[in-house]
Amino acid sequence: MAPATEAARSPPHFVLVPVAAHGHLIPMVDLARLLASRGARASLVTTPLNAARLRGVTDHDHSARSSSKALLEIVDLPFSPADFGLPPDCQNADRITDNAQFATFFLALRELAGPFEAYVRALVPRPSCIIYDWCNSWTAGVATSLGIPRLFFHGPPCFYSLCDLLADIHGLREQMDAAGDQETHDVPGMPVPVKVTKDTAPGWFYAPGSEWLRDEAMAAMRTSDGAVVNTFLDLEDKFVACYEAALGKPVWTLGPFCLHDHRDEKEDTASCGGVSESAITAWLDEQAPDSVVYVSFGSVARKVPRQLFEVGHGLEDSGKSFLWVVKESELALPEVQVWLESLEARTAGRGLVVRGWAPQLAILSHRAVGGFVTHCGWNSVVESIAHGVPLVTWPHFADQFLNEQLVVDVLGVGLPIGITTPVMILDDDVAAPVQRGDIARAVAALMDGGEEAEARRRKAKEYGAKARVAMEEGGDSYEKLTGLIDSFKHGGDKENQHCNS
Ligand code: UDP
Repeated sequence: MAPATEAARSPPHFVLVPVAAHGHLIPMVDLARLLASRGARASLVTTPLNAARLRGVTDHDHSARSSSKALLEIVDLPFSPADFGLPPDCQNADRITDNAQFATFFLALRELAGPFEAYVRALVPRPSCIIYDWCNSWTAGVATSLGIPRLFFHGPPCFYSLCDLLADIHGLREQMDAAGDQETHDVPGMPVPVKVTKDTAPGWFYAPGSEWLRDEAMAAMRTSDGAVVNTFLDLEDKFVACYEAALGKPVWTLGPFCLHDHRDEKEDTASCGGVSESAITAWLDEQAPDSVVYVSFGSVARKVPRQLFEVGHGLEDSGKSFLWVVKESELALPEVQVWLESLEARTAGRGLVVRGWAPQLAILSHRAVGGFVTHCGWNSVVESIAHGVPLVTWPHFADQFLNEQLVVDVLGVGLPIGITTPVMILDDDVAAPVQRGDIARAVAALMDGGEEAEARRRKAKEYGAKARVAMEEGGDSYEKLTGLIDSFKHGGDKENQHCNS
């Protein structure tokens, strides 16, 4: 069959290129599954260790839909972090042990460009579209040289990405550099007032030594064919159209991805430190509806013991039921283990500490969970909102401060813990910026039944209901996904692409 005819008959083929970090991989795997569930072919390209972890997910999909063709595949490309002085198993950001390694890690990931080009060149017919993580700007050259349309997926919401773009367009960084550190600035052109300081301003990769990452990512974004965002129109209606206009390209809001279908949680919970998903569910089953606060700070941020102890004391002092996730990397010191055991003994019946990786979606979707203390990573925020759970917001770095503004000031579903200064990802919270009293107060205010707490809960549940509608047939995100797939049905050359709106 001639390649052109074959392309016309095959389902559109999307090649997805996530960054090797849980917060980036998880939504892109969900997106790949969404595409495959709607009849498109989806190939997710990553490093070998991540590919091995993810194959369980696709196996699960294949067995769940044995009658359909295997439309979802995981592709691994050779990756040698040791060539860059990183540990040989450093194939995911969760293996990074030092803040200084982040820029090196991204430099190493760039080496995937060669193997990626070889992989794409060998595909017959050529893929219809490449969906790359905003940080993987190295995919741009490959897509351009092969004439393949390219959409970028950026993890944060439209609110954040719009702030970032407007700040860039209006030279906000330069204005801030000329002003004092504590001065607040309005983000120009936003449809709602947004105030930032140097510390909370939008913009990834401004840290010294990683500016090249930002320059390359912005350049690749400008030459892309549009954006895919894990959000939904009813959540961000004020910002989606403005973002599309500022970007000058289609913005496909296809989420919340997590509502499509729960990923295979059993695989993720392998490292739950002895507490299985069924034990967690059984514990939650014992609790009253909306009575438990879930506490987790994503996949990357690590707390030093002093800060961990403040969190634990705060939860204890709040008098509320809690389910707290403490990461494997935070458990290294024996004194932490001993301290956690004594906390569990003191709070027996109303407190559960999960060590390692928790099945977050299973927890957030349980009726007993009525609040979430979060670091405001967008996946966690959108997963919480999708399940109607209000939040205590404790941003740590990157987009998280602006995500907090969206959650608290715009959507009215969150209560800030009051942090205004970022911490470095791995080790900088030595001074324990959040004290036990802050935690206890915020948790009590979120979970107690006062008027403000009730209003937050009601709004969260309303957004949760709208999120479900968005993902159902006829809903905005569902129909946009139909539109995206349809726009690549005939071949995959750029001429066949249609706009979103
Ligand atoms: N996550 C999880 N279990 C954990 C910690 C995190 O399932 O114990 C998932 C969470 O559901 C979310 C992702 O990891 O999908 C974290 O992404 P987010 O954007 O919230 O934060 P990041 O890890 O990127 O800082």
